[in-house]
Amino acid sequence: MGITSFLSAYLVLVGLMLGSFINLAADRVPRGESIVRPRSHCRSCGRVLTFVDLLPVAGYILRAGRCASCRTPIGAAAPAVEAVSGACMLAALAWLGLWPGAMAGLALVALWGLGVTGLATRRRSEL
Ligand SMILES: [Zn+2]
Repeated sequence: MGITSFLSAYLVLVGLMLGSFINLAADRVPRGESIVRPRSHCRSCGRVLTFVDLLPVAGYILRAGRCASCRTPIGAAAPAVEAVSGACMLAALAWLGLWPGAMAGLALVALWGLGVTGLATRRRSEL
């Protein structure tokens, strides 16, 4: 594998992880909670999420979409948000190359994150 494909794969992974962070932000920002603390945990049983739970998309599949201890459904929106983030990065890299694709990909993911978090905030204020 060449250095370019290695870097591309790494950047797509970064996109997926940013997707995880977007989920966290969309969950906490509308509630006025900190996005830094506490560590990610299940809203129902309080179980602190492990490495497996935090794997973008794969964690959802491995846990069959449910919390490992209380079986509360996580919701299909979470892996979808992560997949779109990874896809934004992948599309930018495929279209523009490693550079400036990486920058464009990060910008796309940032816009996506703002959109998702903004929507979640609006939804909550309407409830
Ligand atoms: Zn739980």
